[in-house]
Amino acid sequence: MNKALFLDRDGTITLDHGYAHKPEQIELIPGAADALRRARELGYLLFLFTNQSGVGRGMFTLEDVHACNAHMLELLGLGDDLFADLCIAPEHPDEDSLYRKPSPRFIHEMTAAHALDPAQCAMVGDRTSDWEAGVNAGIRPIAVRTGKDFGESATVFIEKNAVAVFDDLSAFVATLS
Ligand SMILES: [Mg+2]
Repeated sequence: MNKALFLDRDGTITLDHGYAHKPEQIELIPGAADALRRARELGYLLFLFTNQSGVGRGMFTLEDVHACNAHMLELLGLGDDLFADLCIAPEHPDEDSLYRKPSPRFIHEMTAAHALDPAQCAMVGDRTSDWEAGVNAGIRPIAVRTGKDFGESATVFIEKNAVAVFDDLSAFVATLS
């Protein structure tokens, strides 16, 4: 059985500039590249799991998202195959969606496809929808403080669901073995 990290993009790996859609808007959060390298060394499969409702809202296209992801990979410098797979959920929040977080569907599909052990998997993100996807999928929800400040409802969710909170991705990965 394999272990894995599911990672949100904006506010977790990259700075959340709000609907970033041009490669030049992509900036890594300090320490993110080292954290991902370390997680990979420890044997974790890495999956990118990002809601991109800007596509569904007509603000930018899926091609723009791909270009941003490609630039993020270039900045990370850990190879184009860093992520075992990636999920981009482009829907508007009001649309029906199979994959948009907090849906656990992507995590479930990857668990089956890559023989993942849910007990050794985590969903890392800066928003309630990230943690909720983890809870819904039966894997550990991890909160990082590198996105927007947690509001009241996020704080309530964290307490109610025993979400572990870290300053950033590096601090979380430092706890892994
Ligand atoms: Mg985020």
